Amino acid sequence: MADMEDIRKAFADELSSSETFAGLQQLKVKYLGKKGVLTSRLRLLSTIPAEERPAYGKLINDLKILIESALEEKEAGLKKTERDRNFALEALDVTLPGKYAVPGRSHPLSRVLKEITDIFVNMGFDVEVGPEVELDYYNFEALNIPRDHPARDMQDTFYITDDVIMRTQTSPVQVRTMEKRKPPLKIISPGKVYRCDADVTHSPMFHQVEGLMVDTDISFSDLKGVLEIFVHRMFSKDTPVRFRPSFFPFTEPSAEIDIGCILCGGSGCRVCKGSGWLEVLGAGMVHPRVFEMAGYDSELYTGFAFGLGVERITMLKYAIDDIRLFYENDTRFLRQF
Ligand SMILES: [Zn+2]
Repeated sequence: MADMEDIRKAFADELSSSETFAGLQQLKVKYLGKKGVLTSRLRLLSTIPAEERPAYGKLINDLKILIESALEEKEAGLKKTERDRNFALEALDVTLPGKYAVPGRSHPLSRVLKEITDIFVNMGFDVEVGPEVELDYYNFEALNIPRDHPARDMQDTFYITDDVIMRTQTSPVQVRTMEKRKPPLKIISPGKVYRCDADVTHSPMFHQVEGLMVDTDISFSDLKGVLEIFVHRMFSKDTPVRFRPSFFPFTEPSAEIDIGCILCGGSGCRVCKGSGWLEVLGAGMVHPRVFEMAGYDSELYTGFAFGLGVERITMLKYAIDDIRLFYENDTRFLRQF
């Protein structure tokens, strides 16, 4: 019987130093298992005198119940500790600022190019594109700019060979389109163009949108109407528009189109150089020579063409004073749009 007390003390010691589920399982096997301490004592019952058996048997059973309940209690304690720890780990601090992924966004040039395209598409223009590496013929000759023409000096061209260049304007798409389509024609052609020029307002690569409308009775007033609608939708419906006589080899008559300075409202500032006006477009009536070279009857058809710089429009719209900001991919700049 003294043996039972030793067993109880030994179990109590081991239990108090057991802090894992695996440890408790080992104790259970050691004391209550088939070959456990108590089970082997029960087997010995038959070897002791019959009159002592009930008392001894009761001692063993009492100890068995005590060990079982002590193990259960300890296990419940471990479970609670583990649950509390998990709660602490998973606790939410609702006062912390939220985490969110920074979404991508369109580049300001892409946004403005899309705006420009949408305005003309809504007026019934189709979108045509052409190659950036272009034949001299389409970029110059077919636009009434022969090799010895002084107008070639107006554009600093990247030559690949004598006959192949990086296009300096989107105008060659006019010719390519006229060669494959018959009038009536209403197209715009957005895209990249290249000139050997770089400073705060010029980049060796920039974007233009070319426009062309051809039919049997297109007049200069159609050109004025279309471009006024464009300016009013692009900037605001109160923006003044002014046509100034100009010269381009591929249009006759030609005009530069100014808008009232959107920065100073026309009173004169650094950007408009005190004039109150900003130049935004070049345009004119398609030169009969250009029609003839594309195979159109210049007696039957008339049309207008225009070209605008996407960077120029974007810089004016968002008051950006350095064209290089568009291409540096500085997210501090790009995030503002
Ligand atoms: Zn101004």
